[in-house]
Amino acid sequence: MGKNDFLTPKAIANRIKAKGLQMLRWYCQMCQKQCRDENGFKCHCMSESHQRQMLIFGENPNRIVEGLL
Ligand SMILES: [Zn+2]
Repeated sequence: MGKNDFLTPKAIANRIKAKGLQMLRWYCQMCQKQCRDENGFKCHCMSESHQRQMLIFGENPNRIVEGLL
């Protein structure tokens, strides 16, 4: 344990993993859109494209789910 731990492969992998989780946190699966942060995600949820996607999903959920899979 020392200050060089920051550069070990394990430490780097942990940072990448943490960053990945943080990114997935603000991912809109319905629109398949990645948002930068909470504010960006909120903005996206109020955006026209997201609302339209919501309507499409509400009308035809099965088709959208199949499309995602
Ligand atoms: Zn969306």
